Amino acid sequence: MRFCEVCQKNPVWGTDKLTKIGYCKNHQYLRTDVSKETILQKALKKQKANALKKDSGKVRSIAIEVKPPKDYQALENWFKNTRKKLTGRCQCGCNKPSSKFDDRYYKHSCSHVFPKAKFASVATHPRNFVERAFWGGCHSVMDDTSMGRWMGFADWENIKEIFHELAPLLTDEERATKFYSHFERLIYGR
Ligand SMILES: [Zn+2]
Ligand SMILES: [Zn+2]
Repeated sequence: MRFCEVCQKNPVWGTDKLTKIGYCKNHQYLRTDVSKETILQKALKKQKANALKKDSGKVRSIAIEVKPPKDYQALENWFKNTRKKLTGRCQCGCNKPSSKFDDRYYKHSCSHVFPKAKFASVATHPRNFVERAFWGGCHSVMDDTSMGRWMGFADWENIKEIFHELAPLLTDEERATKFYSHFERLIYGR
């Protein structure tokens, strides 16, 4: 099985035809070969077909799950604005170049702190990012299963500030996630 190039954990859901990079369902928005709407429409169709095979009653809930977000344009703007704040270097401490100056890959270096898939309420918050190199795996450790390493990042102070600023904006549902409780434990050293 192939795994997503960004998170390196979830199976590949679709491959970018131009770059040959495979992405999981959560990272399809990084593809450069098709518009996000097209990808989501395809994903929706595929899921619908699969659900129909299994259990027609599930179609409705699955359909809601992959419905294109109303804030599609907001996310595009978030990437554009975040790109301006990047320095051109990964901020994890490795000092590798980021993709700030790469028109095709700059989104890969705008790494959400609170992942957009689970934390819709801050998906486009201007503070919800760190700069990470994509090539070499710095982006891939920005998830729950690698969170134990976050305190060793050069920009850990910045990440803590982001937590304190954004945590009050989350919904109760978002605060009930494993990701949030893990993050909170790191912040308060519990
Ligand atoms: Zn992924
Ligand atoms: Zn790095």
